[in-house]
Amino acid sequence: MKTEVLIIGGGLAGSAAAIGLSRAGRPVVLMERDRESQHKVCGEFLSREALKYLEELGVGVAAAGGVVIRAVRLASGRAVKEAELPFRAMSLTRRRLDELLLQRAVQAGARVMRGCQVESLVRQDDAREIGQLASKAAVWRAVARGATAMEAEAVFLATGKYDLRGRARPKGRQSPMVAFKMYWRLSPAQAAALEGHVELMLYRGGYAGLQPVEDGAVNLCCVVEQAELRRLGGHWEHLLAAMQQDCSLLRQRLEGAQPLLHRPLAVAGIPYGFVRECRQGQAECLWALGDQAAVIPSFTGDGMSIALHSGRLAARMYLRGETAECFQERLHREISEQVALATMVSRGLVWRPARSFFTAAVEYWPEVLGLVARRTRIPEASMLV
Ligand SMILES: Cc1cc2nc3c(=O)[nH]c(=O)nc-3n(C[C@H](O)[C@H](O)[C@H](O)COP(=O)(O)OP(=O)(O)OC[C@H]3O[C@@H](n4cnc5c(N)ncnc54)[C@H](O)[C@@H]3O)c2cc1C
Repeated sequence: MKTEVLIIGGGLAGSAAAIGLSRAGRPVVLMERDRESQHKVCGEFLSREALKYLEELGVGVAAAGGVVIRAVRLASGRAVKEAELPFRAMSLTRRRLDELLLQRAVQAGARVMRGCQVESLVRQDDAREIGQLASKAAVWRAVARGATAMEAEAVFLATGKYDLRGRARPKGRQSPMVAFKMYWRLSPAQAAALEGHVELMLYRGGYAGLQPVEDGAVNLCCVVEQAELRRLGGHWEHLLAAMQQDCSLLRQRLEGAQPLLHRPLAVAGIPYGFVRECRQGQAECLWALGDQAAVIPSFTGDGMSIALHSGRLAARMYLRGETAECFQERLHREISEQVALATMVSRGLVWRPARSFFTAAVEYWPEVLGLVARRTRIPEASMLV
């Protein structure tokens, strides 16, 4: 099988690119590993930028059941500080959001192949050498599990947290973290106290975000340093107990709460601070999007807007005839400062002396929360492209 553009991965970045290209009438195939949209490890906080991009893509978050988030609480030890967000945010489960985006991609004309996990991706030169390539125009050859093969002139790599074999991203600027996500139903009193808020909770070796999502559920998404998790025997139950011991707000929220999944979702080795560079002479003619292009620490709640931004930008630059290298350089220019600042704060949040300093700063100057939120977002000017 052949196509002009092959997109590997149908999360936010892949779907955004598929919609942009298909709306312009380009032949696009999107291969997505999962047959049905799944819950993903994600705090599900949708920033103003993400909401704007989603609206442009035809996804109404409020109509889909999204919940409004207007303020942030920072909790460390017994201390709790609150600040209004400098923008209106929302939350929606990834299972629902990813499904809506894939539906929009199909409506726009993309061919979406679900249950199609790409296992190898080879460039033309390599493929010619081993005599695999049937089409002269094609540059890439991807083979999915079950031997479905696809040739394409351009490949957009949007596999998120998962690297293709032989294409592992380098380590990030923060020591590798492990992330967990669990849905809960809180007691009515705790649910009322959380309403309209995202709560950032700090504890030894990591931090967690707690916020309401649709249908009365609450998302607890947390990260912890690999070393700290090892110290706790590697068990979720031990981590949860340690988090509650360190942070009294979390203990309070989870009192009488009912877990809604049999066990939490988990992902290891998250390379916070990674931003793909495209050095001259190392061009690969591959459009890397979303988490394959950059991984901003999750406390910012900005990873989804970067994913949507990268998908949209890649589609537009491709349609203008620009190269993958120009795209990667431009994206790097637009987001590397924000990722670097967010990574510095993220490292501080898990390092005790810096954590005490940060919480003291918030105590005396709560606006610092809004300032960090503003300085880690995609710049307005980049969004106008
Ligand atoms: C702990 C944590 C909390 C977070 N919280 C937030 C938050 O609150 N707000 C926010 O904005 N961001 C948050 N993020 C970041 C956000 O989840 C990611 O930045 C975003 O999901 C990236 O989108 P993506 O499209 O690149 O990847 P994904 O959404 O992960 O999509 C990748 C897709 O590729 C598919 N795939 C993978 N491998 C293959 C393959 N070989 N073949 C075919 N398909 C494949 C997967 O099935 C998946 O559907 C958080 C991240 C973490 C780790």
